[in-house]
Amino acid sequence: MTQEANIDEKYKQAGHVISSAGGTPVPVNDTLVKLLKYFLGEEDLDFVLAFREYKSQTLDQLKETTGLSESEVVEKASKLASRGVIFNQPNRKGTMVYRLLPLLNVGTFEYMFMGKIEHNERNRQISALFDQLFEELEDIVQSNYDSLMPQLMQAPPVDRTVPMAENKSTGQPIKIMVDESVEESADRILPAQQVEALIEKFDEIALGYCFCRHHKDLSGQPCKQTDLRETCFTFGKSARYTSEQGFSRMISKQEAREILKRSEADGLVHKAYHPNFDISKDETSVCNCCRCCCGNSVENMIAPISNATNFLAVIDPELCVGCGTCVDECHTYAAYLGDDGKAQRNEELCIGCGVCAAFCPENAISMVKGPTRIVRIAPKKKKAS
Ligand code: SF4
Ligand code: SF4
Ligand code: SF4
Repeated sequence: MTQEANIDEKYKQAGHVISSAGGTPVPVNDTLVKLLKYFLGEEDLDFVLAFREYKSQTLDQLKETTGLSESEVVEKASKLASRGVIFNQPNRKGTMVYRLLPLLNVGTFEYMFMGKIEHNERNRQISALFDQLFEELEDIVQSNYDSLMPQLMQAPPVDRTVPMAENKSTGQPIKIMVDESVEESADRILPAQQVEALIEKFDEIALGYCFCRHHKDLSGQPCKQTDLRETCFTFGKSARYTSEQGFSRMISKQEAREILKRSEADGLVHKAYHPNFDISKDETSVCNCCRCCCGNSVENMIAPISNATNFLAVIDPELCVGCGTCVDECHTYAAYLGDDGKAQRNEELCIGCGVCAAFCPENAISMVKGPTRIVRIAPKKKKAS
């Protein structure tokens, strides 16, 4: 084996360790090796390989698994944290923990494109390699569609939709109807159901770039829905972490409210994220997503999207004039015009985002607040398994 082949083999070993670090597993192939070379020098590979067995380690553990001194571990971890490869934060007891991040969901891809980045050749190449890796991942999913999909459709929700609150044409609040059965159910205590309430809840709010739109910009496919790029909020500990690493900037509640307003005007969907997708825990972040660029949208999904919501759109046929605005605005193709020319909504596809209700010129759409529903939407099968 040539020296170059030996080095590539070591990058592949590091790729296996990264691919097994949680998040979305990625194919360990030549594309991944090319990509990793942008984030990891040869001198970083042993450090990554030290996470083979334990993906989270304390300083003492890392000193042992890497054979490095304390200062060397701290220096190496800080460098890799600034590249979105390592997460270095104290745990609840105040002990510093070093965690190897996956490449995707949430890891290097998100952190890299969440920060301010230059539109230069290097970043365009990184973006193109991510595109290639996504295509290869999709190929694997599509080639094993029949065996993988039943399992993937059981996945827990990734995000929770927080609906829009105001109808654009009237300026009036969107009508909310409460499903009375909820009062008796275990779903009685619900997490924040309005983004404004989330902004009030957290004292520390950071704002990052939308990594999906940033990535698409670099790939030469700019967003068709909005000119906004800084639309990703992180809260509390996550806000401190992302801003310290330079992936975001701390903002005031007032600026946060303004960004939300502009996001709603452009029809972006609010999605809240909770630690380990546990909606009983405080939100770590809120995204404002477009349909065209979001990696977790029906347009771009490789695996099924899985979303939690407490809302469902309901259309009043007496008020609907069949203009089709809700059909155009809906991110999941849940809204459509029926044979009578009036709008209909497919419950299985409705993520309760309220975009249709916000944009309906007749204010004909209400949101029903009810028990938590998990909406899972599978990608279409593109080829025979
Ligand atoms: S999930 Fe939504 S807001 Fe977040 S980065 Fe992707 S498109 Fe942007
Ligand atoms: S936007 Fe309103 S009026 Fe237009 S089709 Fe949809 S429900 Fe009907
Ligand atoms: S019908 Fe579409 S736009 Fe309306 S709430 Fe459901 S998912 Fe959102």
